Amino acid sequence: MTEKFWQTKSLSEMTRSEWESLCDGCAKCCLHKFIDDEDTTEETELMPTTHINEGEQMSYSNIACYLLNDKSCQCTQYDKRTKLVPDCVQLTQDNLDAIFFMPPSCTYRRLKEGRGIPSWHPLLHKGKKTAMHKAGMSVRGKIVKDSEVDIDFFEDYIVSWPLNDID
Ligand code: SF4
Ligand code: SF4
Repeated sequence: MTEKFWQTKSLSEMTRSEWESLCDGCAKCCLHKFIDDEDTTEETELMPTTHINEGEQMSYSNIACYLLNDKSCQCTQYDKRTKLVPDCVQLTQDNLDAIFFMPPSCTYRRLKEGRGIPSWHPLLHKGKKTAMHKAGMSVRGKIVKDSEVDIDFFEDYIVSWPLNDID
């Protein structure tokens, strides 16, 4: 069988379109995450961060960005996303350090860690997301929007399913 580009190239060697095609569209990266930090005060509690220190734990919530379409799991304002949501993390080939923000099932993270792409990935299903939704690997049917909840009560929304990964 012919080897696929993700089996022969590193993430930094891929073309732009190869890179883009790797995104499974799970939308787990559009969920709010929280880092428990010893130095956190009430004022800084909900401030965005660009790093995680050793020993700190990141928790996922089921609170998603208000721009996410909860059925298709796609951004409704993809072109304007960084303007509308300044802390929207855009993973690029020049920004691989931000990969720690991604869930374990994220294709980019899997490839960076040498785990290959999963059996449910749309690239293995003619671009269709059905297998991913069926495997429960996307956010479909599991989220609330940040425009609909009081983010101060984020602890009520902490969940572990975004950390799940299969094969
Ligand atoms: S978690 Fe990774 S693979 Fe899933 S939508 Fe986000 S960038 Fe794409
Ligand atoms: S702006 Fe779009 S891509 Fe960014 S977090 Fe929100 S829904 Fe996701």
